[in-house]
Amino acid sequence: MSVPINIVMTAFLRVGLPLGLSLGVVITSGSHANAFEEPVHLSLTIWLAVSAGFSESDAFQLGRFDQATDDDPSTSPMPPHHVKERKLYHAFGGASAVHELEGKARCTRGAITLPQFKRIGQFLHALEDQYSHRCCGPILGQLTIGEGPDKPWYAPPVFVEMVERKFEKLLEFRRKCKSASFSEVAVRSNFARSKDLLDRWASDAYEFSAEDEGNQARWDDLIRALYGVNYLKYTDTFVKAYHASQKPAPVLDAPRPPTTPNIR
Ligand SMILES: [Zn+2]
Repeated sequence: MSVPINIVMTAFLRVGLPLGLSLGVVITSGSHANAFEEPVHLSLTIWLAVSAGFSESDAFQLGRFDQATDDDPSTSPMPPHHVKERKLYHAFGGASAVHELEGKARCTRGAITLPQFKRIGQFLHALEDQYSHRCCGPILGQLTIGEGPDKPWYAPPVFVEMVERKFEKLLEFRRKCKSASFSEVAVRSNFARSKDLLDRWASDAYEFSAEDEGNQARWDDLIRALYGVNYLKYTDTFVKAYHASQKPAPVLDAPRPPTTPNIR
């Protein structure tokens, strides 16, 4: 008797991947090789940065450059020859790649520049991708990377672990990069409430298979509860603002300046 493929995949996603991640081993089969999408790299990053004490405009820059790591042609994981890019920016290189990007993520205290936001965003991106589902190294990754995006409910407890680690990193940047005072105690106690919601979602989500059709609705309920009155702003307004920021600047058909005559 053959075992249905969805049961095999669910067992793999629920047991093999978290175990593989915690043991640091390379898992050599399976699909879902792509990483998280905008709801995680962009919207969740914005919410998490605000939760860690950043202003909304700073949080937008962090989310923007996190998401742009997938969309920018110079860092995108998609081109087949982007072996180095997949390794570094999308964590196919594992913890050492994430560590390398963290070393480059610096800031001018009180005035984070756009290139600094970009470096921090790229580090956050790699950190998230490290927790997403990997089937292959950076070379084989190109064969499966387009197969399907990763979803938070494929490995709920691993996802919550990622969110918690990212919150701690964002807090570090908040302390280092912003001079305005903030209450870390208040920020932490707010996040503890969010963590309860995340844990409850993870234990519910774990009850269902990774392919269960209610997964999306359970995820939507979670982020509505987490984002509260900012739900539309984080999932729609800022997503549109991100897409507008990605459009190339219009090329002006301006006349060329006259060349300076060589007077020597
Ligand atoms: Zn990625």
